[in-house]
Amino acid sequence: MFHGNLAGLLARERRGAPFEFAFARAANLKNAVEALGVPHTEIGRVLVNGAAATLARTVRDGDAVEVFPWPDGGAAAPEGERRFLADAHLGALARYLRMLGFDTAHANPLPDTEIRRLGHDARRVVLSRDRELLKCRDILFGCLVRAPAPEAQLREVAARYALAAAAQPFSRCLRCNLPLDRVEKAAIMQRLPEIVRAHHEQFMICHGCDRIYWPGSHYARMQAALRSLLSGRQADPAPATS
Ligand SMILES: [Zn+2]
Repeated sequence: MFHGNLAGLLARERRGAPFEFAFARAANLKNAVEALGVPHTEIGRVLVNGAAATLARTVRDGDAVEVFPWPDGGAAAPEGERRFLADAHLGALARYLRMLGFDTAHANPLPDTEIRRLGHDARRVVLSRDRELLKCRDILFGCLVRAPAPEAQLREVAARYALAAAAQPFSRCLRCNLPLDRVEKAAIMQRLPEIVRAHHEQFMICHGCDRIYWPGSHYARMQAALRSLLSGRQADPAPATS
């Protein structure tokens, strides 16, 4: 039986109650569970006949298997700073994560073989909506993104990896994923539009693409939007005007 949000990944008739399933001979739990549609990255705990088991255990005839998601909607992740690898279809989510300051590799197209290599070597959390990709054993840490809309995807990932506390908004280049550095206004004065030169004193620069960032008029709006996304709430409605 599959518990919590894992049930939604099964065929409809298998949800919500125990069912019988015949596995290939000598299948281990990882293969058995993935054959039913649940990638190993989503699995927190497994019980076989009431005792804790690892995904490497061989399934035997008559075993009663219970599969649980990570508790509290969480997940396993590499030690230290949160770093992500978004697959080719999650460009908007990658941009949101960079906006919050998280190192998020993303290239379109990035072949699955490369994602698997990076998922193994760089110890990033691989973000994908593709279950087949996440079933790959090379991917040590992964997250099956359920929501189709980028804002909801960010909410999902933020909750699962407790991102709100670690976010450093506007500290990373949205285009190259490199950390931004402070730059003196005098050094870049010539490159600024006149209106920006007149109204702003704080500037950041990306040494990858040479782009200059400053807290423009959309900055406050974006910060408010990000705050509400991280807290899982919708943005407050605009005050009514008479
Ligand atoms: Zn850049």
